[in-house]
Amino acid sequence: MESGVSAGTLDLAKTHHWVAVNSYRVRVAAFALVGISIALHVFPASHGALFWTAFVLQFAVYPHLMQWRTRRSGKPEKAELDNLIVDAVVSGAWAAGLGFPLWITAALFLATLLNHTIMRGLPGILICPVALLSGALASTTVVAFQLSTDTNGLVTLSSIVGLAIYLSLMGVEFFTYIRRLHEVQGAVASQKQILEDANSALHEQISQIHDLQDKLREQANRDSLTGLFNRRYLEGTLEREMARCKREGTPMTMLLLDIDHFKLINDTYGHQAGDEVLRVFAQALHDSARAEDIVCRYGGEEFLLVLPKMPLDIARERGEFLRKLFAETIVPFGELRIRITASIGIAGTPDHSDSTDGLIRCADQALYLAKRNGRNRVVTFGDAIQELPG
Ligand code: GH3
Ligand code: MG
Ligand code: MG
Repeated sequence: MESGVSAGTLDLAKTHHWVAVNSYRVRVAAFALVGISIALHVFPASHGALFWTAFVLQFAVYPHLMQWRTRRSGKPEKAELDNLIVDAVVSGAWAAGLGFPLWITAALFLATLLNHTIMRGLPGILICPVALLSGALASTTVVAFQLSTDTNGLVTLSSIVGLAIYLSLMGVEFFTYIRRLHEVQGAVASQKQILEDANSALHEQISQIHDLQDKLREQANRDSLTGLFNRRYLEGTLEREMARCKREGTPMTMLLLDIDHFKLINDTYGHQAGDEVLRVFAQALHDSARAEDIVCRYGGEEFLLVLPKMPLDIARERGEFLRKLFAETIVPFGELRIRITASIGIAGTPDHSDSTDGLIRCADQALYLAKRNGRNRVVTFGDAIQELPG
């Protein structure tokens, strides 16, 4: 946007209403041009000082007085619309006072009508003739009604030229206005476009931030080595799942799985091989899970499988299935083929505990017994209790 355009527009808006600013220039021009024609018209006749004083006041001073009045007004638009009525009244008075010289009266009428319609719109067509007529009537009560419509060639020419100049000035004035308006519209449209672009860029950034937040949340809940949920994820989820199962009156079972002699795998084949074993074990566990199961890396080589809505006997079968699966799994690592086994402890609601902590404790004790009894086996908490010393 050109700064000149914006500054000019701003100045106009700041100082006066556009009607007021426009009307002043138009009035000065109109009264000067009509004044010339009237001066030429009345010059041959002898007029006294009073007449010429009134003439100068009317055609040279009056437009500035009206502008001064508008400037002082708190409502310039209304003041200027009132001024227009005064213009029409005095124009009617002069036309009647001079005996309605045809060309001068026509110029006065047309210019005044144009001013009214431009500044006021449709109502101007009615208001202007009424004001002109009332001025003419007022004038005929002071100086008796007379009709001398003839104007000489010079006055006719002056009136026509004056009217033409006046109409051209109006045309230029409004051409400038409309062009400025278009420029402002263009500037507004480009600002709007810039705002829309910025807005969509902002939306894009917000959605990227949301994606990033989702990713971070996801990452915070995942174990980086195996991709399974981590213990942190369990904190919020376990309680929720437990509550849901209780609400629906269904059991919830947990399997705590621990790879046997994992330290030995690390020590024999190296930490990297151990990592690969963890990954393969996790993948197998994940692949065997139902959609509603929660598969979690609970510690170093310990995994927790939460099975909502699963009764103990089915969970036991599931545990046995997994134990066999791991015992048959061979983990390839370079040239190596690593075999593993896992021990599994099982506990479930409502038989063993009705709290998540209690259930994990029970599963842990069952796992402990599975280890103690020789590893590569599945132990349910109920069995464990009987076999634990004391
Ligand atoms: P048990 O049969 O009694 O469970 O014996 P274990 O050797 O499996 O158990 P222990 O607790 O003695 O050893 C677990 C080992 O797991 C110790 C630790 O260094 C290793 N470990 C824990 N996290 C990771 C990991 O992310 N990667 C690897 N490679 N090793 C890990
Ligand atoms: Mg172990
Ligand atoms: Mg362990």
